[in-house]
Amino acid sequence: MKKYIQEAEEALLHTYNRYQIVLDRGDGVYLYDLDGKKYLDFVSGIAVFALGYNNKEYNDALKAQIDKLLHTSNYYYNVPAIEAARKIKEVSGMDRVFFTNSGAEAVEGALKAARKYHYLKTGKADGEIIAMNHSFHGRTFGALSVTGNPHYREAFEPMIGNVKFADINDFDSVKAQVTEKTCAIILETVQGEGGIFPATEDFLSDIRKLCDEKDILMILDEIQCGMGRTGYMYAWQKYGIKPDIMTTAKALGCGVPVGAFLMTEKVGANSLVAGDHGTTYGGNPFACAAVGKVLDLFKQDNIIENVKEVAPYLEKRLDELKDEYDFIIDRRGAGLMQGLVFDRPVSEIINKALDKGLILINAGAQIIRFVPPLIITKENVDDMIEILRSCLESV
Ligand SMILES: *Cc1c(COP(=O)(O)O)cnc(C)c1O
Repeated sequence: MKKYIQEAEEALLHTYNRYQIVLDRGDGVYLYDLDGKKYLDFVSGIAVFALGYNNKEYNDALKAQIDKLLHTSNYYYNVPAIEAARKIKEVSGMDRVFFTNSGAEAVEGALKAARKYHYLKTGKADGEIIAMNHSFHGRTFGALSVTGNPHYREAFEPMIGNVKFADINDFDSVKAQVTEKTCAIILETVQGEGGIFPATEDFLSDIRKLCDEKDILMILDEIQCGMGRTGYMYAWQKYGIKPDIMTTAKALGCGVPVGAFLMTEKVGANSLVAGDHGTTYGGNPFACAAVGKVLDLFKQDNIIENVKEVAPYLEKRLDELKDEYDFIIDRRGAGLMQGLVFDRPVSEIINKALDKGLILINAGAQIIRFVPPLIITKENVDDMIEILRSCLESV
C-alpha cells in the first residue's frame, strides 16, 4: 500500500488528508484493503452505499446495462431514465425530476430553478436566498455560496450574490432575513457535515408556513439525510410538510455518481424551460439503471424497515457510551445518521479505530459521525461499539 500511497501523493491534488489505507474491495458491511485486512464500515463512502457492497442484484443490473447502452444524450429519451423518474416520483411525492451527476450539481439546479421562478414572477433578476449557518451544500460556486461555513468560502470570494444566513431551529433568525426579494430558503432536513443537527418539526413547519404566505420556495437538501437513512425515504416525510424543491444524491446511485433535483408541478411549470439548464452525463442510461435498481431493492429488501429496527438500538448503544465517558458530551441525529459529540478532537480515536478494523468518520473536529450501510444488523452495531470502546479506553 505504501507504494500506491506515495504515488497518489505525487499525482493527485492534495485536497484531502487521506487515511493511510488503500481500499480494494467490499462485501456487505465490510471493506478490505490491498493487504486483505478487513474493516467494519460505519461510513459507507459517506452515506452512499446504503445497500452494502457487492450486492449481486445491483451489480447484475449494472452489468446488463453496460452491455446494452451506457450513454446517449438528453436530446433523446432513454428507458432507464424514464423508469428511474417514475420510481423516484413515487417515493418522494414530487412531480418533476432533473438528474445530475452529483449532489452539488443538484443544489446548483435547485438554486437556478428558484431564481428563475422569482424572475418569471417579478420580472426582476434580484432573488435573495436564505441559507443556514453550519450547513453544507457542496463545493461548486452556487452550492458553496449557500454553505454556512465561512472557512470553506473565504478564499473563493466573491460568491454568488444575494445569499443571507440564519440559524437552524431559530425561526426568528430566519424571519429577520426575509425581504420582498426573498425567493428561496434552503436547508438540510438533518445537517450532516456541519455536525449532525436535525431540524425540529416546529422549525420546519414554521418555515413551510412562512414560504406559503410569501410565495417563497422551500428547498430541502436531502443529499445526506435522504434515501431511507432516517427511517423515512426522505427525512421531511416524517413531519407532514413538503418542500417545493428537493435535492437528493449520495445513496441515490449507491456508488454510481448520480443526483437529482425534484420539484412540485407549481415550480416545474413556472421555472426552468428548454435552454435554461442542461448536463451531458446527467440522467444517462447507466446512472439511471443504478437509480432504478436501488429504488427497487429498497422496497424488495425492506431497507427502511431495517433502519427503523436497528437505529433505536444504535442510539441506545451510543447513549451508553455517552453515559460511561465524561469526554462524550452529546449524542444526536436521526435514524442511521448519528453523531457522538466529544469535548476534544476525535481524529486520534478515528485513527485508532481504523487500526482495529473499524471505519469511522468525523463531522467537524469534535464529532464522530455514524452513517453505516442501511443493511447493518444489531450484531454489527455491537461489534462497532466493542471496537470503539476499546479505542475510548486509552483516551
Ligand atoms: C455531500 C453533500 C452535498 C454535496 O454532494 P456532492 O455529491 O459531494 O457534490 C450537498 N449537500 C449535502 C447535504 C451533502 O451531504
